[in-house]
Amino acid sequence: MEEKLYRNSLNYVPIDVAKGIDRITGKRVNADEIDPNYERMPKCMHCENFTKNEEKIGLGMCNVGKKPFIAYPDMAAITCEWYKDK
Ligand code: SF4
Repeated sequence: MEEKLYRNSLNYVPIDVAKGIDRITGKRVNADEIDPNYERMPKCMHCENFTKNEEKIGLGMCNVGKKPFIAYPDMAAITCEWYKDK
């Protein structure tokens, strides 16, 4: 199940690794809180080209192109031209 956390939401502006600002309310929030207005941010973990590494937490592979390469599930993919929403 998708975690509808601020850290994964388009409505979140990070200040540091733990906290940021809700763009709708303007309030300071924690990255791991539930975002009531959650909008999915494109990240590798939400991409059809991504395969999660079951042995190493926080790692995966991008399978676009001829040769797969290491990708991180939490990596923002807003500028990735190959991103395909799952
Ligand atoms: S295609 Fe882009 S967004 Fe998708 S897994 Fe590869 S690097 Fe990430």
